[in-house]
Amino acid sequence: MTLQNAQFDTIMREYDRRQNENRQILSRRREEIRHALPRIARLDEEIARQSADAARRMLLSPDAPADDLPAKLSALEKQKEQILTDNGYPADYLALPCTCPLCKDTGFIDGQKCVCFRQAEIRLLFSQSGISFRPEEDSFDRFSLDFYPEDVTNAATGLTARETADAALLQAKAFVRDFDRSPGQNLFLYGDTGVGKTFLSRCIAQALLESTHSVVYFSAHDLFEHLARQTFSEDPARDHTDPVPECDLLIIDDLGTELTNAFVSSSLFTCINDRLRDKRSTIISTNLSLQEFSDTYSERTFSRIVSDYTLIKLIGGDIRLLKKHPGGK
Ligand SMILES: [Zn+2]
Repeated sequence: MTLQNAQFDTIMREYDRRQNENRQILSRRREEIRHALPRIARLDEEIARQSADAARRMLLSPDAPADDLPAKLSALEKQKEQILTDNGYPADYLALPCTCPLCKDTGFIDGQKCVCFRQAEIRLLFSQSGISFRPEEDSFDRFSLDFYPEDVTNAATGLTARETADAALLQAKAFVRDFDRSPGQNLFLYGDTGVGKTFLSRCIAQALLESTHSVVYFSAHDLFEHLARQTFSEDPARDHTDPVPECDLLIIDDLGTELTNAFVSSSLFTCINDRLRDKRSTIISTNLSLQEFSDTYSERTFSRIVSDYTLIKLIGGDIRLLKKHPGGK
């Protein structure tokens, strides 16, 4: 995935801020050492003098044999370090401090993003996603089939709740695995309250955010409020700050719980349709049945969902209740 310009700028500003801060730290330390250890200042003068002399010699007689300036300078630097450590300072106290020693806080090594840049991307993407970073909780490994009964069967497929959940888990993992290879996959997760739809979409979100994809999570209610603000706002910058059309994955949770009206219905269609056109993925979760969904939203929205989304129906009891009252029915 590629960061949007604004996201890239946010990260680069952070590197600038860090470099400035480190330069200030270094200048305070130099000042401190100048007073505390005047011998270091004299060695610095000696280093400057020898470097200038060597440069002058090079200019006046370029063909003269090179002197061993690097060795001399290195010996002087060693002396400085020795004085620092003898006086209880770290040997690198007068080196420019850096948070990432790999890239020296530039974010790049040989034109490639440093590992710290990748981490910054992930932190930024999480902070903008509406999803808290919970790799322990929202992990496929925590998706327990034990919560899905074996004595409840989907009449249409003949699969038990547990077999259905097992298949859904495989589809969710495949969705993550193939995300870059087949862009524009979509999931429609439906079923009663508490059957694990939100959890499954959070696991997908977590995995994709960790591989630096931009994910934006909205409850249906918040999404339509957001879309209304975008549509009716006078702010000319609104289009540039709207993550909904641009993000790699949009998650619309609990569709059907919002107050449905003509605006909701038409903006849902536009949102879904635009993302299909741009091959950007969407996951919708809802408690509505397919029939209820078709009755609630427009025919054209329903037809897009049926033709372009993988439909996954989860069945079973309310897992939240099972967790509170294990063993109870
Ligand atoms: Zn780095």
